[in-house]
Amino acid sequence: MTTFYYYHEDFLLHNTGKNHPESADRLLVINSSLKTLNGLIEITPIKREDSLDLVKLVHSNQLIDWVNHLKQNASTIVDKRNDVVLSPATASVALLAVSTCCDAVDQVITGNAKNAFCAVRPPGHHATPSESKGFCIYNNIAIAASYAIKKYNLQRVAIIDFDVHHGNGTQDTFYDNSKVFFSSTHEKGIYPYSGGINETGKDGNILNISMQAGTDSKEFREIYTEKIFPKLEEFNPELILISAGFDAHEDDHLGSIKLQYDDYSWVTKELVAIANKYCAGKIVSILEGGYELDSLANSVKSHIIELL
Ligand SMILES: [Zn+2]
Repeated sequence: MTTFYYYHEDFLLHNTGKNHPESADRLLVINSSLKTLNGLIEITPIKREDSLDLVKLVHSNQLIDWVNHLKQNASTIVDKRNDVVLSPATASVALLAVSTCCDAVDQVITGNAKNAFCAVRPPGHHATPSESKGFCIYNNIAIAASYAIKKYNLQRVAIIDFDVHHGNGTQDTFYDNSKVFFSSTHEKGIYPYSGGINETGKDGNILNISMQAGTDSKEFREIYTEKIFPKLEEFNPELILISAGFDAHEDDHLGSIKLQYDDYSWVTKELVAIANKYCAGKIVSILEGGYELDSLANSVKSHIIELL
């Protein structure tokens, strides 16, 4: 069985301007760090004809109109609101990212791949149904989960989010939807300032664990071992999606959590074991944050080696 690695150079066209942490360089360093890995199947995704319909599984028409308001030939970058930069290519690139994640769902569910990693930008987990936010345009993982439920009639899709920031947009999308179990670990007191333990979803389908600045490997592993993995196993997932952000690494300056490369290997290995036990190994992992280029590239590599 195989691991698909999705990458397209068009993802580089989403232009956030000079000195923005969410830069095209992020994908370039990831891509070059993976060149030495044997057995990874690289897939060049295409923008699907139904990509706009996929976006509508989660987002409002008003949001889609806003994303598309900038003319394709505009020369300026528009930093409109909520830490989101729209460039002329952004609307199209965002649809390619959504298409990529849904294609990965297709390939994993139908058994063409055992699992997949989607090296996409822009990231997605802060985008709510009605607003692009926090470097995110469309919520790629929420759309992928909604698509899996709709197309394959899945009843239990799990989303594990280990980005250092709370996946508020994903939580908002599924707060009332017990077909999705969403669990996020994130640093307390930083953007987007949500993700308290009391935010549990209507049917207890959401599990937030906020971590103090300085949380280290040992505490991180205890949280997953004692709190998240038992809930995930109880949920009995048919598919596991990962909001794979790597900004909880010690070297990343957007957070103050002290994870090491080993921790990304460990959490991935454990998730693969749970996926093997409950859902024939089906995992679709989608890139979210991670802004320090060296630590991002090495963290992604640690993650993918375990997917392989
Ligand atoms: Zn993040």
